[in-house]
Amino acid sequence: MLFRPSIAAPALLQVDPKTLGLNLCLIISGLFVLTLAGAFTYASWTGIKTWIAIVRTRRGREEYLRKFRRADGKPYPPATHGKCEHCGVQQGKIYHVDSGPCVCPDCYEIYWRRETGWVDENQSG
Ligand SMILES: [Zn+2]
Repeated sequence: MLFRPSIAAPALLQVDPKTLGLNLCLIISGLFVLTLAGAFTYASWTGIKTWIAIVRTRRGREEYLRKFRRADGKPYPPATHGKCEHCGVQQGKIYHVDSGPCVCPDCYEIYWRRETGWVDENQSG
């Protein structure tokens, strides 16, 4: 059976099959490279955003611990306004220790370190 071209397709038959194949190969490989580049860009961007989120979460947790936890990781006792029983200074924040004095934040740092025998690893040595 012989292939008979229709009247509408003579332009297609004038194209060199070798050139057509080469062009198709170039277009397909170009699309493949573009897809790979897009996937790589998306993965990189997602990785960078994830890394930034991890760093921010870590910093937020460190800030929270620095604000609301002692250096040994235990929570601070409840605090109100009052007068420090140790240094006698009127403070906006006085810690009420269960079995101890009502002390200001500065005195409390000394107090709990002495009570627990805590040695700060960053300052010793
Ligand atoms: Zn004090």
